[in-house]
Formats: sequence, C-alpha cells, structure tokens
Amino acid sequence: MTAVHYPPAWLRPVGNVGGAMATPILGLIPHVQVGTGSLFSWFNNPASKVSAHLWLSRTGAIEQYVPFDRRAWAEAAGNPYWISCECEGYDTEDYTPIQIVRLAELFRWGMHEFGWEPRITDSPARGGLGTHRMGGALWGGHSCPGDIRANRRRDILARAVSAPPPTDRCERFVGRPTLRSNAVGSNVTDLQQALNIVFAGAGAGVGHLDPDGRYGPRTTAQVAALQRYVSPWFGRIDDDGVCGPATWQKLGHVLTGLETAA
Ligand SMILES: [Zn+2]
Repeated sequence: MTAVHYPPAWLRPVGNVGGAMATPILGLIPHVQVGTGSLFSWFNNPASKVSAHLWLSRTGAIEQYVPFDRRAWAEAAGNPYWISCECEGYDTEDYTPIQIVRLAELFRWGMHEFGWEPRITDSPARGGLGTHRMGGALWGGHSCPGDIRANRRRDILARAVSAPPPTDRCERFVGRPTLRSNAVGSNVTDLQQALNIVFAGAGAGVGHLDPDGRYGPRTTAQVAALQRYVSPWFGRIDDDGVCGPATWQKLGHVLTGLETAA
C-alpha cells in the first residue's frame, strides 16, 4: 500500500474530499494560496467546495487535510492524478527559502513513494513537478501559481534530487512493549505524555492525562481515540485501547507531524 500520509505533516482531516485517486499518481502541483494562515477551516467548510492535500506555511510548517488515496478538490479534471499543496503567500512574491526546502523534501519523498519522475512538466499528460495553470480550462482556467513561483520549480527539483532525505523521527517508538489496561512504568508515562501532545493539538479525545505511569481507563480510552484518529491515514486499526507495535508506530508519525508544524 502506498503512503496516504506525509510523515512531517500535521494531520487535520477536512470534509471536502472526493473519491479514490487514480494509479499512478503523476506528480505534485504546488498552488499559491493568495493569502495567509491555515486553510483548515476553509477546506472543512462544505460551502467552499475546495481543498488541497497539503498546506505549506511561509515558516515551513505542513498540514495535511486529505489522505493521498482520496481526491482533493484543487485542480478539477486533474484531481484524480495529482497531489496538491497550497503554499502560503501571494503570486506576486517568491517562496520563502524554507518553503523551497520543504517542497524539495516533499517532491523527493514522492519520488520514493509514488515513483514521480524527477522533472518539470507543463502538461497534464506528463508526470513530474507541474503547475495548476498547465491544466488550462479543464483544470479551472487558473494562472496559479504565477510566473515567479512556476519558475522556482527548477530550484526545487535540483534540491529534490541532490539533498538528503528529510529527517524521519517516526520510528522513535519502535521496540516498545505492548501496553494495555493495568500496565505500569516509564513506557506508560511516555505514552501518556505523547498522547497529551497529540490531543492538545487535535482538540479531541478524553482530555489531558495525568502522566502517572498507570494505564487506567482514561489512558485506555485515549489510546482508542488515537486509533480512531489515525485510521483514515495509516490504514484502519481496531480501537481496542491496547498500545501494540502498530499503534506505537502511528503515534510516532503523528508526533513527527506536530513537531514540524510547531
Ligand atoms: Zn492553484
């Protein structure tokens, strides 16, 4: 199964999602936001009828709104074939330096995960690093992202093929023991602290846990909440409240995304 979540991204699922993506996914379309601030609320508003898979802030934080196995509503006829990333800022200004680094990391990751060709493309029929405007009328007839940002693709691609892959701390909990109700000890404390970080951002779950190293009913309920939260992104897992290897790994993914977003 190909990845549905970009590990450095903070998961913020929205309601504006379409059907299944086509195979293969051809490449990346960096859009220009023509504005500032997270697009979570706008893309979660049914009236807007728009969304993107990802959003990249001027400071390099990344939010993911739509899993990569579902269509975002970003490029009309192109939606089934392309990953979309809204980039904060305006078409009259360049990317920030960290945005170029982040787009290069994302494209490099897509080369690995989806087999993207390391090339610039100006045709919807040819995969690679494209633009919204290349789709013409069938993609909504937009000028996005403007000349300044479209011309930056050469730098993004050069960095993508030469730079080392992004640091991946998703595996931080590999090897932890399976924990369940009535477990005690420092692994439980680590789990509780990690859950507190996750659910402080997500605004869901059972609320703050006392990191006392005791796996009681509230910890069990919070692990189950985590399992439900990550299932659309990492493949479904039972919300049994038991923290086994798969749950530990997904917790590492979510934490990595939160750190990148901070
Ligand atoms: Zn666009």
